Amino acid sequence: MRGSHPGAFETAHALAREGKKFPEPEDLDEEYDLVVVGGGISGLAAAYYYRKQFGADSRILILENHDDFGGHAKRNEFHQGGQMRLSWGGTMNLEFPMFSDTVNALLAELGVDINELLQGYDFGYGAGPKGSPSTFFDAETYGRNELIHGYSFRAGGSDDWDAMIDRFPVSEESRESLKKFYARRENVFAGKSEAEVSEILSSISYTDFLKQYGGLTDQAAALFIKTTHGYEGVGADSLSASECIGASLPIMHLLGHSRLSGSGEDDPGGDVAMFPDGNASIARLLLKALIPAVAPGSNAGNIAMARFDYSQLDQADSPVRLRLESSVVNVSNIDAGSSVTYVNQDQVLRVKSRHTVLACYHVIIPHLCPEMPLEQKEAQKYQVKRPLILTNVLLRDSKAFDTLDISGAYCPGRLHGALWQVKGVNTAGYRHDWDDAGPVPVMFWGSVAPPDASLTAREQHRISRSLLLAMSFEDFEREVRTVLDGMLGPAGFDVQKDILAITVNRWPHGYSYNYLDLWDPDWPDGQAPHEIARQPFGNIAIANSDAGANAYTHVAIDEAWRAVGELPA
Ligand SMILES: Cc1cc2nc3c(=O)[nH]c(=O)nc-3n(C[C@H](O)[C@H](O)[C@H](O)COP(=O)(O)OP(=O)(O)OC[C@H]3O[C@@H](n4cnc5c(N)ncnc54)[C@H](O)[C@@H]3O)c2cc1C
Repeated sequence: MRGSHPGAFETAHALAREGKKFPEPEDLDEEYDLVVVGGGISGLAAAYYYRKQFGADSRILILENHDDFGGHAKRNEFHQGGQMRLSWGGTMNLEFPMFSDTVNALLAELGVDINELLQGYDFGYGAGPKGSPSTFFDAETYGRNELIHGYSFRAGGSDDWDAMIDRFPVSEESRESLKKFYARRENVFAGKSEAEVSEILSSISYTDFLKQYGGLTDQAAALFIKTTHGYEGVGADSLSASECIGASLPIMHLLGHSRLSGSGEDDPGGDVAMFPDGNASIARLLLKALIPAVAPGSNAGNIAMARFDYSQLDQADSPVRLRLESSVVNVSNIDAGSSVTYVNQDQVLRVKSRHTVLACYHVIIPHLCPEMPLEQKEAQKYQVKRPLILTNVLLRDSKAFDTLDISGAYCPGRLHGALWQVKGVNTAGYRHDWDDAGPVPVMFWGSVAPPDASLTAREQHRISRSLLLAMSFEDFEREVRTVLDGMLGPAGFDVQKDILAITVNRWPHGYSYNYLDLWDPDWPDGQAPHEIARQPFGNIAIANSDAGANAYTHVAIDEAWRAVGELPA
C-alpha cells in the first residue's frame, strides 16, 4: 500500500480534524536559510530556485511527511527473476506542449530532452502497437462478461460500430439509442449564436447532454460516467458538456462537425512525453541536483536505473537536507525569519529559518499558520484535491493480453475505470519492449465513485476521500482479481498463478482542484480562491500545484518559481 501510506497522514489529520495540540517543541540546534514544507516536485523545485536566487551555499531543509520524496511523483519498482520492471505510482506524463519558458529552462538544466523521450515512447494508453482500445463489461455489474475489442467510449476504433454495440450487455433500447447517437451528424443548436451554444454547453452535464440532445437512454448515458474518473475524480455526470469536449468524449458530431470528439484522437494521453517511472524521474533529477551524493553518476540519460542512497538525504555537512517522515504542524513568522515545528517519530521538534516555502497541500495551511488572515485561510480551504487511485499489478507475462490482441481496456462498471499494460517507454536507461515475453506491470487507473452525483464536485471529493481511506489492501486485491479473471480468464489467464504482485497507490489528496463549470462561479481577476490563497505572508511564501489551481507538474514548477521570487530579500 503506497501513495498516502499508513504513517504518512495521521499527524496532519490529528491536527486538522481533531485540533490536536502538540507538546512544546524541542528546539534543534539547526538554522537554515530556507525550510521547505513538502518534498514533492514543487518543494524540490523551490529549493532548486532558492539556491539560484539566494546563492548555491544556502542552507536548506526540506521536510516531507511520507517515507519517500517526490510527492505524487513516485515510482513503483517490481523485482522479478533478476529483472526490474518499472511503473509510475502517481504523476506520469510530461504535458510538454503546455510548458512555460521557466519549465523548459529547468528541464534543460536537468538535461531532459523532450525529443529524446518522444523517440523512446510507444505506450499510448491502450493505443500502442498491441491492439486498439477495448471495453470490458463485467458480469457483476452487467450480468455477463463481455470484452468489446476495438470499442472505446472516446471516439475512434473500428468502423464496425453497430456490431460492437449489439454485444453490449444493456437493454435493446439502450443499444439502439447508442447506434443512432453515433450515426447522427447534425447541429442540434442550429440557429443559435456561438455565445448561446457556449452557455448551454457549460451549464449542462455531459450525461444530461447525451440524454437531452443525443437521445441516449439513462442506461446508455450512464456507460460514459466512469470515463472521466481518472482525470477529474468525478463522473461525466458532474462535468459540463463543454469540459467533456476537452476530455475527447463524443459530442462534436452533434455540433455540426463530421468527427465525433473534440480532438479526434483516441489517446487520452494526448501529446505527452514520459519517463518509465513517470515524473518520479523529474523528482529524482531535482534531488540529485540538490544533493549530488544521493546518486553519483546519474543523469537524465540513466536516471530510471539509478540507485538512490537514502542515507545521504539528511547529512549535517550537506547544504541541502531532506528529512522524511516529518509532518510539519506549525509555521510562524518570527523576528528576521520563521520557525517551523514538525513531528518525527513522536518527537516534536523546531528549527529556525530565514525563509519558509509551503509546498504542501493548501488545505492544511490554515492549521499550520493559524495567524494568517481569515480570508486567505478560507481561500486555502477551497482547494479540495481530487482523490485518485493507481494500482499496479505485475503479471507473469502478457500472453492473455496478446491472445486477445489488446493492450488495455476501459471498464465502465469497475472501481478502476481503465487499465493498461505498461510497456514501450524505453528511455533513461530502461527498456521494456512490447515483444518482451516476461513479467509486465498493468496499471489500473481510477477514483472512488461518490454515492451522490448531485453534490458539488468538492463535496463528492471529500466523500470519495473517506471511502478511499477506509478501503483495505484486500479490497483492491479482490477488485483487480475480479477484473482480470473476467477479462483475461477466457484467454487462459489464471489469477492464482499469473498475478505476481500488487502495489496500490492511494491518493486521497490527488490532483489539485481546477474550477469546474457546473460548480464554481467566475471570479473577478485576482479574486479566485487560489490567487488569494497563495499570497506571501511575511517570510513565508506559498507554492504547490494548488497555488495554480491546476494539477500538472509544470504548474507545480511554475508555482515554485513564483513563490521563491516573492520571498523578501
Ligand atoms: C495519480 C496521479 C497521477 C498524476 N498524473 C500526472 C500527469 O500525468 N502529469 C502531470 O503533469 N501531473 C500529474 N499529476 C499531478 C501531480 O500532482 C503534479 O504533477 C505534481 O507532482 C504535484 O507536485 P506538488 O509538489 O505540487 O504536490 P505534491 O506532489 O502533492 O507534493 C506535496 C508534498 O507535501 C507533503 N505534505 C503535505 N502536508 C505536509 C506537512 N504538513 N508536512 C510535510 N509534508 C507535507 C505531501 O505529502 C506531498 O508529499 C498526477 C497526480 C496523481 C495523484
